[in-house]
Amino acid sequence: MKNRAVVIGAGLGGVASAALLAFRGYDVTVFESNATVGGKMQELERDGYRFDTGPSLFTMPFLLEKLFSNCGESLSDYLQFDELKPLCRYFWKDGIRFDNYAEREKSMEEIRRFSPSDADAYSKFLDRAEEIYNKTADAFLFNPLYQLSDLKNLRFQDFLGIDAFSTVSDVVDDRFSSPHMRQFFKRFTTYNGSSPYLAPATLNVIPHVELNQGGYYVRGGMYRIAESLSKLAEKKGVQFRFNTRVESILVEGHKAVGVKTSKGEEFRSDALFANSDATETILKLLPSASVSTRKRESQEQIEPSCSGFVMMIGAEKRWDNLCHHNIFFSDDYEREFDDIFKRKVMPEDPTIYLANTSYTDPDHAPEGSSNLYILVNAPYMADHQDWDEIARSYSAFLIRELESRGLDGLSEAAEFVEVITPEHFYQKYGSNRGSIYGTSSNNRFAAFLRPRNALREVDNLYLTGGSTHPGGGIPLVIQSAFNAVELMDRS
Ligand SMILES: Cc1cc2nc3c(=O)[nH]c(=O)nc-3n(C[C@H](O)[C@H](O)[C@H](O)COP(=O)(O)OP(=O)(O)OC[C@H]3O[C@@H](n4cnc5c(N)ncnc54)[C@H](O)[C@@H]3O)c2cc1C
Repeated sequence: MKNRAVVIGAGLGGVASAALLAFRGYDVTVFESNATVGGKMQELERDGYRFDTGPSLFTMPFLLEKLFSNCGESLSDYLQFDELKPLCRYFWKDGIRFDNYAEREKSMEEIRRFSPSDADAYSKFLDRAEEIYNKTADAFLFNPLYQLSDLKNLRFQDFLGIDAFSTVSDVVDDRFSSPHMRQFFKRFTTYNGSSPYLAPATLNVIPHVELNQGGYYVRGGMYRIAESLSKLAEKKGVQFRFNTRVESILVEGHKAVGVKTSKGEEFRSDALFANSDATETILKLLPSASVSTRKRESQEQIEPSCSGFVMMIGAEKRWDNLCHHNIFFSDDYEREFDDIFKRKVMPEDPTIYLANTSYTDPDHAPEGSSNLYILVNAPYMADHQDWDEIARSYSAFLIRELESRGLDGLSEAAEFVEVITPEHFYQKYGSNRGSIYGTSSNNRFAAFLRPRNALREVDNLYLTGGSTHPGGGIPLVIQSAFNAVELMDRS
C-alpha cells in the first residue's frame, strides 16, 4: 500500500508540496477550506472585466521550472510568461516619470534625464545586489536553514559583506543623491512586506531578482500559475477536498499522525504538510500540549509582514499615461512606513501601486475600458482598526488621489469598485493578522526567527508557504515546498 500524505491548504506552497509528494509515490489528499486552489492568488471576473486579486508580478521563474521538472514535467507545457517592457512606470508628484527596464542601459538613460549622477550609481547598485545574492542565496534561500550544517555554504567573511548591520534605507541613501532614486530602491523591501527603514540592507538583494533576472507577467493572468500547479498535482494523482477546513492536527506522543476536519472526519497520514499560516498552525491547529510555552510565546512575538488594501475598479475609460505596472510615489516615504508599522493605520499619503493588465491582455476589459487593480501597503490587523469603515472612506480617498495623479474622470468612469482589506486576508486564508507576505524582516535576525519548514517539537509535521522559511512571494513559497520535502527526506 502507498504511504499516505495529507496537506493542509491549497495555497501555492501546499499544491507544490502535494505535487512533489505524489511524484514520489505518496497517496496525497489536500484539504482546503475555500472552494478553489491558489490561496491568496485568486482571480475575479465581473461585467467583462478580469482581475488577479493577489500577486501581479512573477519573478525567479526558474524555481517554478524546477518544480515541474522535479515532477517529470515541463513548465512550458503548462504556462507562458513574458518580460514586460517597461517593467514598471514610476510617477512622482513633482512630475518626474521613470520607466524602469530590465535592460540596464535603457534604465540608465531614463535616470540621466532627472538625476545624471545616479545613472552610474544605478548600475553599481545592481552589481552590488547581484554580489549579495551570490553570497547569500545558497545559504539563506535555496536551503532549509534548519541545522548548523545548512550554513556550510556561508563563509564568515561573506556574512560580514552582506550589509546585515545597516538598514536598507541607510545604504540606499549613501549610494544615491536624488530623492527619486532613493525612494525607488527603498520600495523593493515591500516585496517581502517590510519597512526599508528597519530591514537589514541585505534585502537590497531584491532589486537583483527583478531588475537583473527579470520581472514577468503570465499570459492570461497570474491565476494561470495556480491553475497550472493544480493541473500538475492532479496529473500526479493528488486528490483535492475543497470547502473542508482542518480543525486540528492529531498528535500521538511527539508525532503528527493526521488531521480532523470541519466535517468531523479523521484522516490518518504518514506525512503531514501544513500550508496554513505557520502561526495559526502552531497556535491553533496543534494540541496545546504539543507546543511548549516558550515556542508559543516566541511565535506570538514574531512580527507579521504588512498587509495590503486592494481595490479593483472596472472603468469605462483608458488612460494613455498608464502602462502595465505603475507606481505613484508618496512625498514622505518614512512617514508612510511609520503609519503602517508604528501607528498601524492606513498611510495618510500612500504610495499607490496600480496594475492595468488590459494594457498587455486587452481582453481583460471591454474595449476602451480599463481593469484597474490598486494595492496600497497596509498595516497588519490591530484592535483599533475598523476595516468596514476604512474600506469605505479609504477607497473614496484613493480614487480622489488617483484623479489628482493623472487618472482624470476616474470616479465617473468607475462601473464598480471591489475592495479587499487585511481582515479579508485573515478571515479567508487564515493569514496571521492579515499579513500578505508571512513574517516581516524588520530586524536583522528576522531570517533566523521565521518558522522553519519542519517543527522541532512535533515529528512528521512539515511547514510550507510564505509564513515559513525562506519567506513570502511566489518563488520563495515554491522553494519552501522543496525545503519541506528535503527535511522529510532527512528525517
Ligand atoms: C495583494 C497581494 C499581492 C501580492 N503580490 C505579489 C507579487 O506581485 N508577487 C509575488 O511573488 N507575491 C505576491 N504576493 C504574495 C503571494 O501571493 C504569497 O506569498 C503566496 O501566494 C502565498 O502562498 P502560500 O503557499 O503561503 O499560501 P496561502 O496563499 O497563504 O494559502 C494558504 C491556503 O491554506 C488554506 N488554509 C489555511 N488554513 C486552513 C485549514 N485549517 N484547513 C484547510 N485549509 C486551510 C487557506 O484557505 C489558503 O487557501 C502577494 C500577495 C497578496 C495578498
